[in-house]
Amino acid sequence: MPDSGYIDLHCHTTFSDGSFEPEDVVALAARAGVAVLAITDHDDVRSWERAGAAAQAAGIRLLPGVELSAEFEGREVHVLGYGLDPTHEPLGAALEEFHAARRTRAERMVRALQQLGFTITMADVAPAGYTGAIGRPHLARHLVETGQLRSVQAAFDRYLRRGRPAFVPKMVIDPVRACELIRDAGGVPVLAHPVYLNADDRIPALAKCGLGGIEVNHSGQTPSKRAKYAKLADRLGLVKTGGCDFHGAAKPDVHFGDVRTPLAWLPPVEAAIAAAQDAAGVGARLT
Ligand code: AMP
Ligand code: ZN
Ligand code: FE
Ligand code: FE
Repeated sequence: MPDSGYIDLHCHTTFSDGSFEPEDVVALAARAGVAVLAITDHDDVRSWERAGAAAQAAGIRLLPGVELSAEFEGREVHVLGYGLDPTHEPLGAALEEFHAARRTRAERMVRALQQLGFTITMADVAPAGYTGAIGRPHLARHLVETGQLRSVQAAFDRYLRRGRPAFVPKMVIDPVRACELIRDAGGVPVLAHPVYLNADDRIPALAKCGLGGIEVNHSGQTPSKRAKYAKLADRLGLVKTGGCDFHGAAKPDVHFGDVRTPLAWLPPVEAAIAAAQDAAGVGARLT
């Protein structure tokens, strides 16, 4: 284990709705003092190879990760997965299905935006050859880059949030399935940014779906929320994680270094990963 720096276990690249390539994300993290990084693209694990080489060159460690979307009691929940094998076939098949659903959904949102008078096509959102997971930030960024809207936040607030005119729901799976997909690939499922669930009292019930951890530190969580989630994780016997959820242009106010989680939180996460890999009989190399 490195003896200085901090861990950051939540960020996105161009393999989903981040605006930086994996190599650039790794370099930005390393420059900001991150010693152990996990890239957690939405529904995608393919940055792993490129990011791994970059991490090695930058002298930082990389945990393979992913972020899945699920629905629990009518609320969207994100489930992070750590230590899973990015080459696991059943996981790959599920992610392909999610990708296809995301593309169909993006086509519907593009049509809705066109009907609202915006100039936008699928080619703007996902250029030919783009194979990553398409999300609403791809649409929002086009509207901002072309001067049609002032900010990504405005795009969400006025058009893309649930309840707004260009919103189309995502294909949803339940948290049990999300946790199974991660565990079957040798990973540990962790509840992402619990504050967005907006139902702290439901976290214990949600944890029973197969979660192994809670993301205690996150750029959207205040110190008092973090303290509360840390206590809850300890009480439920779950590991604690943290990350800033860096996206680049899709979340321009979030930078590596904004959320610093101590290296001391890593060994329990690694122990949980080792147990998950033993149980599944598969797992990724931890570099
Ligand atoms: P999607 O995968 O299409 O549901 O988009 C989810 C991503 O959009 C999240 O990871 C955030 O980066 C971003 N996002 C979701 N809700 C908002 C919001 N209200 N304001 C700004 N960004 C958001
Ligand atoms: Zn995102
Ligand atoms: Fe998320
Ligand atoms: Fe995220």
